Amino acid sequence: MTNAQNGWTEERLAILKELWDQKLSISKIGVKLGVSRNAIAGKAHRLGLEKRQSPIKLSLKSKSKKNEWDETKRGPKPLRLILRNLDWSRNKCLWPFEDPKSVDFHFCGDEVYAGKPYCLKHCSLAYNNKD
Ligand SMILES: [Zn+2]
Repeated sequence: MTNAQNGWTEERLAILKELWDQKLSISKIGVKLGVSRNAIAGKAHRLGLEKRQSPIKLSLKSKSKKNEWDETKRGPKPLRLILRNLDWSRNKCLWPFEDPKSVDFHFCGDEVYAGKPYCLKHCSLAYNNKD
C-alpha cells in the first residue's frame, strides 16, 4: 500500500480529503500538498471523492468546450449536454448529422413524432431494430 514515490501518506490523504470537503480548488490543494493539480484530481478520483467541475470548465463556452470534455475519464459527451448548450427545443427532431465533435454537427430539426425524440422519418430509422 505504501507509495513512496507519490508520497501519499495517511496523513496527506487526510489533508486531501479535508481540503476537498472544504471545496478548496484542486490547484490550491495541489499547492498545499506540493503535488500537481493532475495528481490531486487523479487521487481524488481513485478515492471516490465527490466529483466536481472546476470553475474553468463551467465558464468555458463555444468551440473550446469540446476539448474540455475528458473522454478518457467520462466517456463520450452525452447528447443531452450538447443539446443544453444549443438550447434545443423539445419539439424538434434530435436526429444528429455529422460527427458530434465537428462544428458542422447539427440536428434534423423537423417536428417530432408525438412522444419521441425524432421526427417520423428518423423514428423509423432509430427504432428499426427495436419494438
Ligand atoms: Zn428527423
